[in-house]
Amino acid sequence: MRLFFAVWPPAESARALAQWARSVERDAGGKPTAQDKIHLTLAFLGGVEPQKAIAAAKRVKAAPHELAVEQARYWRQNSIVWAGPREAPQALLDLVERLKLELYRAEYILERRPFAAHVTLLRKARPPKSLPPLPAIRWPVGEFLLMQSAVSSSGSVYQPLARFELQ
Ligand code: NAP
Repeated sequence: MRLFFAVWPPAESARALAQWARSVERDAGGKPTAQDKIHLTLAFLGGVEPQKAIAAAKRVKAAPHELAVEQARYWRQNSIVWAGPREAPQALLDLVERLKLELYRAEYILERRPFAAHVTLLRKARPPKSLPPLPAIRWPVGEFLLMQSAVSSSGSVYQPLARFELQ
């Protein structure tokens, strides 16, 4: 069992991104992220107990905002195709920074890797010849979630453990 904090897009936006990922799969192979698993991770905790993380996240104050998904790229080092904003909105960066601070205070050990706002849409992909234009989607960020991820025979299974409203 692994824990991570993430934001989830509205269903119609996830549907459009999943469809885009399937169109990339035709050229790049790999495994497209299922529509209901499309998300952007804020902080990854790994295999830890959730109680203190829930208390820490309740202390986080950040403003609701809109996330633009306007660029898509291939990362050769982990063979994924991802999409995300050209520049992360300040409110998202504030949310990540405050969440990480509260998690540190609660004595969670987080990776020092800098936050990269990305939505993984295809794993184990070959370098695509080109990437088609992304669909125009809306992604209002009004809450974030603590998620549990576990591996099953059919891939990973996500389950929400707690929701935290932005205000
Ligand atoms: P996951 O590995 O638990 O990842 C959940 C989310 O956390 C993803 O957004 C992922 O980012 C991010 N993340 C993972 N490790 C991170 C790290 N060290 N630092 C920062 N962010 C991190 O679940 P998943 O994305 O469904 O699984 C991805 C692959 O790992 C699958 O091939 C799965 O079979 C394998 N795996 C999963 C588990 C599990 O318990 N879920 C265990 C072992 C292996 P990215 O989208 O950039 O990856």
